[in-house]
Amino acid sequence: MEGTGPSPAQRRAATELINEARASSVRLIDSLTRLWDGIVEASALTANDDEHDPEGATVAYERAQLRDVLKQARADLDDLDQAAQRVLTDEYWVCERCGGPISAARLTARPATRICITCAASKVAG
Ligand SMILES: [Zn+2]
Repeated sequence: MEGTGPSPAQRRAATELINEARASSVRLIDSLTRLWDGIVEASALTANDDEHDPEGATVAYERAQLRDVLKQARADLDDLDQAAQRVLTDEYWVCERCGGPISAARLTARPATRICITCAASKVAG
């Protein structure tokens, strides 16, 4: 089951890709967190207003949406952290479903992926 494994250049390229993705993920979380703090602050200021304020529903909706986006962004960052660990072993290049290779093109497009394109395509079916 031993393949040829990734070359040092492949390993470096993968690490670079993951680091870039992590950096933009961290920036996204930063700005989302600032947005979140702003909304929380704004609603704290208006907390004593009439509870039937028509803007209340909109703010609640925005908060729920932002919370989901933030949650997703943190999950992505977590995936990238795990990907960075997997690069240290050859696991990063191996599909965790079928044990087959994950193509370089797929890893370039999705640096945090754990499964090959075939398994990703059949994921919807079950
Ligand atoms: Zn697979």
